[in-house]
Amino acid sequence: MTMTTWLDLSDDDLFGVDNLPYGVFSRVGEAPRVGVRVGDLVLDVSAVAALGDVGDGPDLASVWRQSTLNAFLAQGRSTWQIARAWLTEILTDAVHRDGVSPHLYPLAEVALHLPLAVGDYVDFYASEHHARNVGRIFRPDSEPLTPNWKHLPIGYHGRSQTVVVSGTDIVRPCGQRKPPTAPAPVFGPSVRLDIEAELGFVVGGPATDLGSPVSLADADEHFFGVVLLNDWSARDIQAWEYVPLGPFLGKSFATSISPWVVTMEALRAARVPLPGQDTPPLLPYLRGEPTTDGANTAYGLDISYEVDWNGTVVSRPEYRDMYWSPAQMLAHTTVNGATTRPGDLFGSGTISGPTRESRGSFLELSWSGAEPVGLDDGTERTFLEDGDVVTLRASAPGVSGRRIGLGECVGRILPARP
Ligand code: MN
Repeated sequence: MTMTTWLDLSDDDLFGVDNLPYGVFSRVGEAPRVGVRVGDLVLDVSAVAALGDVGDGPDLASVWRQSTLNAFLAQGRSTWQIARAWLTEILTDAVHRDGVSPHLYPLAEVALHLPLAVGDYVDFYASEHHARNVGRIFRPDSEPLTPNWKHLPIGYHGRSQTVVVSGTDIVRPCGQRKPPTAPAPVFGPSVRLDIEAELGFVVGGPATDLGSPVSLADADEHFFGVVLLNDWSARDIQAWEYVPLGPFLGKSFATSISPWVVTMEALRAARVPLPGQDTPPLLPYLRGEPTTDGANTAYGLDISYEVDWNGTVVSRPEYRDMYWSPAQMLAHTTVNGATTRPGDLFGSGTISGPTRESRGSFLELSWSGAEPVGLDDGTERTFLEDGDVVTLRASAPGVSGRRIGLGECVGRILPARP
């Protein structure tokens, strides 16, 4: 079904009425509040909701008149669906044009903010191709996949307060690294600064109770939407520190996310089967089950990425290649009784495919620096240099057959601070 809007949008606009992602914006001199992107415009949803026609239910005008999405995230899935139906109605029925139009602002005239106050942040390692590549690079003398890899989605707890919105500059981190031939570690700016192209899952719905796991089937009640996520990574710091407790300062200095949260509802048509989890068999709490609509409780997503390095697209990873489903990440995170609550963020792990052209980190693209990457300006790169700009972009099939966009996640590298 194709919905037609009274807005002047082309059919191939990635932010048509199939999409309707949420973010937080402000105009000069005004407080940040929730907005919805349509085309190159931001709809001031709290202002329109205050006109009084959202219908019965929660007071969305006040829920949206906040500087983060967290209050809306906490409302839960039935309210998200009411909101989406209302937005669709006011943007497709021309009877609403005169009431809505004064509350649409050009993107160029607003500032975009971090869309949520991030609670607990977990980053996973869900791509088999990425895990095999990193295993070969970091541990060349052993099996690339660790023995646990196909039994559970591996993750680590990250640092939520250094999650920043797209456009925030990234200061090159300093830390300890140990060059292979050096007798002792040295301190200084990272010389192997990297990216990880990932998808971030934004948690909403009711906070869970301590001791109560979330099943695969209940994951839909907790996932609100997705953001583009760049897990900036200092490979030299990481390589020296990560045994035996995993990444620490090599990743905690910054994580960028896109300003627009694309909802799971908008991604309904992008659900695809996982590439395969038959061998070895999974423990029951991770095992996907068929659903009544012919799908599965453990699903992948058909989202196509571009990784742009200083204006050159160097890689095109496909999210559908990921081994573990987001629902499995949530089920595993809570299977020990750990809680999750609105504002939590799950990173998928680097999205890498089977080919060089689909690798989602520069560690893999340059094979740890051995195979430099050529850029269109004639320069070559292995890892990030000061002044470099990395942009992630992605799109997916929308519910009426057109594509929807996840927007951009941009970051520029600034020199290390002494
Ligand atoms: Mn990562």
